[in-house]
Amino acid sequence: MNRHPCEPQTDEEMKQNYQQELDRIIEQNQLTGKVPSLLLHSCCGPCSSYVVTYLKGYFDVTVLYYNPNIYPEEEYDHRLAEQARLLRELGVPLLTVPYDHREFLEKVRGYEQEPEGGARCRLCFELRLKKTWEIAAAEGFDYYCTTLTVSPHKNAMVINEVGEILSFDQEVPGAALSGAALHSEAAAGTAESCAAGTGAAWLPSDFKKREGYKKSIELSKQYGLYRQVYCGCEFARS
Ligand code: SF4
Repeated sequence: MNRHPCEPQTDEEMKQNYQQELDRIIEQNQLTGKVPSLLLHSCCGPCSSYVVTYLKGYFDVTVLYYNPNIYPEEEYDHRLAEQARLLRELGVPLLTVPYDHREFLEKVRGYEQEPEGGARCRLCFELRLKKTWEIAAAEGFDYYCTTLTVSPHKNAMVINEVGEILSFDQEVPGAALSGAALHSEAAAGTAESCAAGTGAAWLPSDFKKREGYKKSIELSKQYGLYRQVYCGCEFARS
């Protein structure tokens, strides 16, 4: 279902509580004594501060920084440096993909004038989550997820819808996604129960629940993180 992010939610969708779905998955894993591996896409250090701190209690977390939407490159470098600094302090591995802003521009061509929160943003989510899913599947992670739902400016239903569609509809990537495309600050964890190439499940989330956004602001202050004033792309800068 491809729905514009601004369209009102149906009664069924309003009832969906992604935090409760995440709670159930965590409970099920705890019953089995399993600590699953998770590839967590992160948009920036501040948003990841709460999400990583929360999830690392239940998952073997590796963060992926893939954000070709960010413009200009100096801004991308600054956000990445802050992300890396935070993760070093938290002891969490970081994977990165070389920056290429053209990937984003090609993806959103024709949607440049959309307002923030509109159709361009859905395409931006698709771009970043597709890469995350591909790497998670190729590297044998149990789950993949994103920090994006911690933001009150991002529609959690659209993000979860994109993530779910990707994990169901995509072909599992093969050798085309080699480690050569990635840079790792530490070895990524792999799960014994999930062999490489068998796919990765979408981990539903709405991290803004339970004051996740407020906690991310507090943690950002605690770690002295740079907090950007615009979402990322040139079309969101006014
Ligand atoms: S406003 Fe943010 S989410 Fe939307 S397209 Fe730009 S960078 Fe992506």
